[in-house]
Amino acid sequence: MPDFFMPQSDLDTNQHRDPDGDSLDWQREGLYLNAFGRALRRKFGGRVQRVSLDAGFTCPNVDGAVTTGGCNFCDNRSFSPSRRVRLERVSEQLRAGITRVTRRYDRVQGFIAYFQPATNTYAPVDQLREIYELALNADPRIVGLAIGTRPDCAPESVLELLEEIAKHHVVSLEFGMQSVHDESLRWMNRAHTHDDMINAIDRARGRGFECCGHVILGVPGEDHAMMMQTAHEVGILGFDAIKLHNLYSVHGTPLGEEVLAGKVKMMEREPYVQTVVDFLERIPPTTVVERVSGDAPPNYLIEPKWCLEKSAIRIEIDEEFQRRGTRQGSHFVAPEIAPEQRPRPVDSTPPAIQDQIDNRGRLPILKMQGGVVGGLHRD
Ligand code: SF4
Repeated sequence: MPDFFMPQSDLDTNQHRDPDGDSLDWQREGLYLNAFGRALRRKFGGRVQRVSLDAGFTCPNVDGAVTTGGCNFCDNRSFSPSRRVRLERVSEQLRAGITRVTRRYDRVQGFIAYFQPATNTYAPVDQLREIYELALNADPRIVGLAIGTRPDCAPESVLELLEEIAKHHVVSLEFGMQSVHDESLRWMNRAHTHDDMINAIDRARGRGFECCGHVILGVPGEDHAMMMQTAHEVGILGFDAIKLHNLYSVHGTPLGEEVLAGKVKMMEREPYVQTVVDFLERIPPTTVVERVSGDAPPNYLIEPKWCLEKSAIRIEIDEEFQRRGTRQGSHFVAPEIAPEQRPRPVDSTPPAIQDQIDNRGRLPILKMQGGVVGGLHRD
């Protein structure tokens, strides 16, 4: 299986001149959006790349804690509950990833260890500490962690651990929000609701680490107004960063089968570009945009093929902003209650997940499955 969890490329972009009201760095630099790569460069004074790694986690949406089967778009065949990756393998993955990146780019200033496949907060908390610390100590150039998880898998114990790590490192907790519409979440077989997302971010905010939200555009049954409601929610909940993905289908998934059978259609390229621009116009200018499209290796991808042209899509998004004379945040309306003033609620993590994280003993990290980071997912 190819290693397709490649480090994310910068979202650097064309320049744009609009001197009115430029109070943020990216606006003064003449960008159309608050691009991730540039934000990292400003923070660290040079290029910082993510290196993906698989620490052998499974997912409560696969192992039966909330349901089985997983999300309809996710190739989770490798996420068996017995799947384990040796701890040493985590450092090996990081070292190999760093070598790959340094071959590809000159002058990389630092690296972020990116726990990507499966649900990367789903283990006893002492074990999470061990794995995260191991990654941070694998190479002196590692400046922080990015951790992909589900909205229903962030109990207090995990948030407290990340708060502690964030005192000395950059930490991004990436939530698979996907949509604010529960009917869409049901269609994806997410097995959580948007209320779970609200509960998680209202408890995670203000702890010194970044909260990033994944959003999927083009879910069947969602019209333009529904997608814009999700955009509006980004500002209400105060995500520090977002990743936008077009819905795409890959082999080995329920969605892939439906697409191959002609039952489900993926969004076309031009409406997607328009929708991304509409979306970004409605989110706060302070939100960092980490991604504007998603793709998969060509041999896995079924539809849409256009998402393989990432750089061209990125340029088309800029061109559309230029044509409209707008940029990220142009139509943002601040919520009545600022995110930082929202009260911190009681933890609503499902008991079955809480039990795995807080009460169960150490998982036996003994068995190593395969040698390659595997499993397509967008937690
Ligand atoms: S996308 Fe994330 S939540 Fe869904 S099955 Fe895959 S790993 Fe689990």
